[in-house]
Amino acid sequence: MRTITRNSPTDSGSVLRALGLRLTGPRRVILEVLRGTESHPTAEEVHRLVRRRLPRVSLGTVYRNLRLLVAQRLAAEIPGPHSRFDANMDAHHHFTCVRCGCIVDVDGPLAEPQAEALRVRIASRTGLAITHHRIEFFGRCPQCRSGKSRPRRSP
Ligand SMILES: [Zn+2]
Ligand SMILES: [Zn+2]
Repeated sequence: MRTITRNSPTDSGSVLRALGLRLTGPRRVILEVLRGTESHPTAEEVHRLVRRRLPRVSLGTVYRNLRLLVAQRLAAEIPGPHSRFDANMDAHHHFTCVRCGCIVDVDGPLAEPQAEALRVRIASRTGLAITHHRIEFFGRCPQCRSGKSRPRRSP
């Protein structure tokens, strides 16, 4: 599976400034942390990473700023039992490993154009105005696959 190669890191500060947001330490650091990982972390994981740089930041502050980044479309929230967050705003889908729970980005064009045709068909048959759609893939990641194929005990 081909995964998206991340855009070269941009200056989070200038992006936020361009959006006219009040730039606070935690918000900038949270966005930088999110952009520095492809692991789609939960708020708790973001909190843990942010605390390396801002030891006194609270989980509540992280939550609040994550919601704000999502509202400003600088980050996306992946719904689930534990919401996970993603700073990759390019159109893409997700693969979730059913064994270890890791989430991997799947390039959007890879899943089209069948999905696009489906969308058009649904829209014309139901009259629903579809603005976007999400495709979720499930299975085993390369690590979990290789783990399974490993012999149980060496001779
Ligand atoms: Zn896995
Ligand atoms: Zn993603």
